[in-house]
Amino acid sequence: MTRPLNRRAALGSIVGAAAGLWVARAFGSVADGFDPHQPLTATRVSPRLAVFGGAGGNVVAARGKDGLALVDGGLEARSAELLKLVLREMNSPRVDVLFNTHWHPERVGSNATLGQAGAKIVAHENTRLWLSTVIKRPWDDEPFMPLPKAARPNDTFYTTGKLAFGDQPVEYGYMLQSHTDGDIYTFFPEENVLVTGGVICSDGWPLLDWWTGGWILGVVDGLDRMIAVANGTTKVVPGSGPVLTKADLVAQRDMYLVIYERLMKLFFAARSPAEAVEAAPTKEFHPEWGDPSRFVTLAFQSIWGQLTPDG
Ligand SMILES: [Zn+2]
Repeated sequence: MTRPLNRRAALGSIVGAAAGLWVARAFGSVADGFDPHQPLTATRVSPRLAVFGGAGGNVVAARGKDGLALVDGGLEARSAELLKLVLREMNSPRVDVLFNTHWHPERVGSNATLGQAGAKIVAHENTRLWLSTVIKRPWDDEPFMPLPKAARPNDTFYTTGKLAFGDQPVEYGYMLQSHTDGDIYTFFPEENVLVTGGVICSDGWPLLDWWTGGWILGVVDGLDRMIAVANGTTKVVPGSGPVLTKADLVAQRDMYLVIYERLMKLFFAARSPAEAVEAAPTKEFHPEWGDPSRFVTLAFQSIWGQLTPDG
């Protein structure tokens, strides 16, 4: 969080200069096409771990001998319903540990309830800082306000960490500047399940939040970190959408690298974001994921963020 202030200031002026090329729209934070009112789902993916969908992004719950860990907490509007379902499905009286994979609203909607109940809330330090300040991104209509103190992460780290609840260990690590500048993966070695957070989705183009530090080549780096953690039988839970494999992580890494290289060519040819969208740099990838315009626009702008001299 030392750099974004400078970078945001620099980008503010660039965005201002490019205002004619950028039409502000109220983009959400989850994959394109997400319906926030869909029914909640619970899917068991390993003996003591389940994925809960429908609350704004994938939420993972893992049972240990003495407790329950949750990775992300869904949107606040769905939190009460989600927590009830999680406790029932996982046969647990409470959530002991909550991980926030990054600061976006669909990840932190259960923080207030669980923080007040005394849960440990683990996140990267940058995520805690983002959740402690007002965030007004150029593509949103409304700012995001800071969370109350009791709802903020209370156990933060910078590089990697591990903990155990009973006999269930969890390893987690930082993915540098990928989807934001505070993304973490969580890995449950006993279940062989890796949770990616918002860096990738399997049901639509992810939001590349360059305003809070994400960038397209960082997504490649983040995927490299997760590829090093996974093995051939690891179940990979993306930010939203169905469970993936390590081979899918490798395929996504290769895809984002190709897209990055194409965008760099357009960047050095002084193209605008609209021209970058028009060049269709994602054309052979995932046509089923829908319109890539928002993803390409934000990915292109993320290059500005990284390559601005004082950024
Ligand atoms: Zn996100």
